[in-house]
Amino acid sequence: MKRLLVAATLALAFAAPIAAGADEPATVNDVTQINPIVVERVVRPKSVEEVAELVKGHSGPISIGGARHSMGGQIATENALFLDMRDLDKVLELSVEARTIRVQAGITWRKIQEAIDPHDLAVKVMQSYANFTVGGSLSVNAHGRYVGQGSLVGSVRSIKVVLADGSVVTASRDENHDLFRGVIGGYGSLGVIVEATLDLVANQKVERSAKRMPIRDYKKYFFDEIRDAKTAVFHNADIYPPAYDTVMAITWSETDHPLTVLERLPPFGASHWKERFAYWWMSEAPFGKESRRTVLDPLRLRGTAVVWRNHEASYDAGELEPVSRTRSTYVLEEYFIPVERFDEFTEKMRAVLKRHDANIVNISIRHASKDDESLMAWAREECFAFVVYYKQGVRPDDREEVGKWTRELIDAALSSGGTYYLPYQLHATDDQFRRGYPRANDLFAMKLRLDPTYKFRNKLWDRYYHPEALKALVETSTPSPTPEPTPAAASTEAPKTSTDTAPAASAAPENAAAELADAHDALVRETLRIRKGYARDASQTYLTLPEWYIVYSADEFAASVEDHRPSDFPYLRSVAQFWRIYSHVLRATWGKSEWGYQLMIAVIGPSYSFEYLAKGLYENVLGRLSELTMPGGAWQPQTPEDVYLAGVWRDYASFIHATPWFAYPFAEKIGGVWSTHGSVDRTLLRRLERRVSATFGYGFKTAWGWIIRKSNESAYDPEEQTIQVWARKAPGVTDAAIVAREDLDERSELLKLPRYEPFTRALSSLAEKGVHFVEIAGNDRILVTLIAPEAWHDSQNRGALLVEWPILTRPAMKRVAMTLDVARLDEVLPSFGAEQVAIDHVYDF
Ligand SMILES: Cc1cc2nc3c(=O)[nH]c(=O)nc-3n(C[C@H](O)[C@H](O)[C@H](O)COP(=O)(O)OP(=O)(O)OC[C@H]3O[C@@H](n4cnc5c(N)ncnc54)[C@H](O)[C@@H]3O)c2cc1C
Repeated sequence: MKRLLVAATLALAFAAPIAAGADEPATVNDVTQINPIVVERVVRPKSVEEVAELVKGHSGPISIGGARHSMGGQIATENALFLDMRDLDKVLELSVEARTIRVQAGITWRKIQEAIDPHDLAVKVMQSYANFTVGGSLSVNAHGRYVGQGSLVGSVRSIKVVLADGSVVTASRDENHDLFRGVIGGYGSLGVIVEATLDLVANQKVERSAKRMPIRDYKKYFFDEIRDAKTAVFHNADIYPPAYDTVMAITWSETDHPLTVLERLPPFGASHWKERFAYWWMSEAPFGKESRRTVLDPLRLRGTAVVWRNHEASYDAGELEPVSRTRSTYVLEEYFIPVERFDEFTEKMRAVLKRHDANIVNISIRHASKDDESLMAWAREECFAFVVYYKQGVRPDDREEVGKWTRELIDAALSSGGTYYLPYQLHATDDQFRRGYPRANDLFAMKLRLDPTYKFRNKLWDRYYHPEALKALVETSTPSPTPEPTPAAASTEAPKTSTDTAPAASAAPENAAAELADAHDALVRETLRIRKGYARDASQTYLTLPEWYIVYSADEFAASVEDHRPSDFPYLRSVAQFWRIYSHVLRATWGKSEWGYQLMIAVIGPSYSFEYLAKGLYENVLGRLSELTMPGGAWQPQTPEDVYLAGVWRDYASFIHATPWFAYPFAEKIGGVWSTHGSVDRTLLRRLERRVSATFGYGFKTAWGWIIRKSNESAYDPEEQTIQVWARKAPGVTDAAIVAREDLDERSELLKLPRYEPFTRALSSLAEKGVHFVEIAGNDRILVTLIAPEAWHDSQNRGALLVEWPILTRPAMKRVAMTLDVARLDEVLPSFGAEQVAIDHVYDF
């Protein structure tokens, strides 16, 4: 009976808005029950056409609601037409072979699971709980506990969106890509998602393993044992409050073991009294939190657990529901921190939470790979997510107190190079929002274009989007030339631009000047994006590193044979270094790079390895034998052939810094080695051996170079010789390296700089002169290598380390590859000199 009562209370709480007559004002609220919003009316559309008609026919504000599990008013604003999407909940197409599903956006993950489980398929990425709608999840660009996955955007093939003018538009990576990048993670700002096509994966049995450890050991544990484990499917680690110094890491891995739970999906809508009691206990009882570590978790995690993947991915958020939310309520917030800065953030977080004695129930750590697609990406690099689940009172002073520590945690995240998640309470200041989501103005510029009358609204955008300021700017600017999205179907009339819509709600922003400047930048960015030759693929900065490694290796070889035997060179270690560096590059670019570059490395990697292994083998057998005929003592290239060949390697090494290796005139050098003159003495054998081996070696390189040149000519377009850099105007600064410059607006200019090696010199010189860069070829991060003493590390956290490796012929030195923020290059590049660290190379795109 009691269970029935609880279920009835819950059902009523969620059904309340719908209980009001469809055309009457109604109050909508989210799961926390602390954000009631009175809307003009609630409508539950049942078809795409109905959504399009409603949007087209309504001139006032429109808000969109899914399962209402966002927690800060993201679903509504006052007097809006509220589109409750939950009746658009059909599976439209399931392709078992292609492992894709097309669904309406109001469908929940659970309903999808029920449809695909009989086909042994599973959702690729979703949240931990299955109650959310696909539309709501796409709009926040959600994530789950999956190993090796990032945010939801990575598993989306395409979406269908109703825009403010009522047109229905398809967006994907091939069509209306800008819209795709804006809508996913766009919190309903650009339109109503009505359909989505998602990737699926195989359903499989998974087995749980759990390990408790000090939090300081977790990062290493994760990297050593989980991150690259092929069988790991789900992983998270719970930090135990109130000490925050221990974690319980839980991993579910593929297994062949027999199931311990036979049901394929757990029952949904059950009472969950055990879990709900446990949450109450942990948040209210004396020593409740401590008892989780000592009693509750050991009980919960005892024995073997083998379940279906779908079972483990189908938690019911009802298990978190307290009996009442009238005095206190459970809330979430979340922070995303670059993986290297895990320890730094956990220290800062612990200090804030302890200082405020926050009632934290759990902090769950997850991992997410980089998202360079969505404009509002929260994983701008590989990161750990910290999901903070806490209890708070509902009175104004309770909210104020939570606001204080939340802002401190946001500062801690921002100062650790990370950001915070937007579906939760709106405590962040304008400045924190702008720093946490630096591309928000790109989204806003798109919104202004697609939704000029600010139809799509909710509390999030009322708080941080300031359309009046943007509009004023656009009126004084040239119109953006960005193409309109291509309508997919049911295209209706052109957008209204008259003033018959709701007035903009936001007050003038406190920092209006900064806001205006940012808005102007967003317009410049939009203009540059569509300019031919401007934007280059972000992953190319990484992909050029293996190529340059080969160039450095040639330098090292040339330096080595100046005063060492050719047999002394560490051929094998060079090859090992190449592949180690390449594995890091591959990890950073996996699935994001152009095939042409990957193909190039697939060719140069093995051919470099083959050349070095063959050379190493030769020099250590026949080469070494012929070395024996030479006088002992310190080695100098003594025969005319050795001297000649050392000169060729020097010449070759400097040649390939600027020109592709296959253009080097090896054939000519064969002639050269046979034209050397020397005496006929005991070195004759060595001299002959050098001539013959050079003939074979250079002959092979000539033939191989010819093949590569031919395939290069047919496979690749001629390369651009300059790269375009968006920089702030620096009056009076000139530099011979600038090929051309163009005015963009009052503050910005576009610089054309030479690519490849001269690019490093040009950029370093401009940075020294104080030129501030905004973007390089459309990218805000760039790879740099430094030459540093072996013991050096970046104590000032100026960039994210990719990989470092010793310079084999200079044992006290190493090369360090790290990505730097373009916007900080003027400050960071000149700073290395003070630490005896040289800028080796800046990798253009
Ligand atoms: C208990 C709990 C656990 C959570 N766990 C996770 C987690 O593991 N990982 C994670 O990433 N997040 C998590 N979240 C956050 C959750 O993913 C988001 O709040 C998500 O938006 C919920 O989906 P929803 O259907 O409830 O969306 P809603 O809250 O209804 O809507 C969210 C936003 O999407 C917009 N929207 C909704 N539908 C559409 C549509 N069809 N078209 C356009 N815009 C739309 C709304 O206007 C709103 O701005 C959790 C939240 C809770 C309460």
